[in-house]
Amino acid sequence: MKRVACAVTVRTIRGNKMRVAAGLIVAGSVAGFLAMSMFSSGAAWAQAQKTAAAPAPAAAAPAPAPAATQAVAQQQPPRAPCMNPEALGVGRTVEIDTTGGPGFGFEHFKELDFLRDHEVVLTFDDGPWPENTPAVLKALADQCTTGIFFSIGKHATYYPEILKQVYNAGHTVGTHTWSHATLTNKKLTEDQRKDEIERGISAVKWALGGVSPAPFFRFPALQHPPEMVTYLGTRNIGIFSCDLDSFDFKARNAQQVIDVTFKKLDKLGKGIILMHDFHKHTAEALPELLRRLKAGGYKVVAMRAKAPVQSLPQYDEDLGKIAKLPTVSQRPVSSVVTTVAE
Ligand SMILES: [Zn+2]
Repeated sequence: MKRVACAVTVRTIRGNKMRVAAGLIVAGSVAGFLAMSMFSSGAAWAQAQKTAAAPAPAAAAPAPAPAATQAVAQQQPPRAPCMNPEALGVGRTVEIDTTGGPGFGFEHFKELDFLRDHEVVLTFDDGPWPENTPAVLKALADQCTTGIFFSIGKHATYYPEILKQVYNAGHTVGTHTWSHATLTNKKLTEDQRKDEIERGISAVKWALGGVSPAPFFRFPALQHPPEMVTYLGTRNIGIFSCDLDSFDFKARNAQQVIDVTFKKLDKLGKGIILMHDFHKHTAEALPELLRRLKAGGYKVVAMRAKAPVQSLPQYDEDLGKIAKLPTVSQRPVSSVVTTVAE
């Protein structure tokens, strides 16, 4: 991985102020500009849901997708109006330009320190999953707040209706490989590692009915093979590590998820928090965890992509075939057959 010096532009859309700061970015071997436009929540929320296709650099531009696999131009629904005056809410919404594959989360990427004191980003991995993901969605809705969901491709093909609920509730959907393979595994060839990333993207897009997710990616087990970090840079996909890991997958109960999270958060004062909507204890912990964030004066930052990810047509086509095979059709009857009139 090459360290590349380049400028970071931080733009405040509202208030006509412009600040420019210089910094260092590790973005694989790709030099590029990262622009983060930051604006407050509220009316700006809808503006953040831009779905215009991002122009990819010529070298990385995939062949034009056939009509059947092109992204569905659709405005993501905004979050429902907040009816709870005591809710945690959303303090700030930032828009991320993922050109060159910027990395976030100080556990691995220490260049982009954009969170202010007492700001957090909530992230949820490994879903969608029955019961636990809907419980996480309810807890977020009750507190009028939001997070990023890093979905596993296979899980998205099992439970597309649940992933659609995540998207339709106004949350950001990113990807987390096709089958949660650890990409540092020496048995995998470079092509197999790329397949894991690309098939995961196409699977999430398929599950969302052809709507491309955000170009936000998290490596399974936070294992970052340098050549895949570089590859994501060429694909203009942002990489998400974390600032603090809740270790919810190891927790024996909900209380432990809360205790570990706040022990770390109170020390750091801010950060991107790693959790799993896949896990029962996390779903159980979230209502209290969100209440404690509010009580502790923390504010949630929503991270939005400036443009959706550009999936590769060959993976979209392959996924279309895979998704039709009975071997992966493990969706419950209720998600396949719905009574619409009786
Ligand atoms: Zn995971």
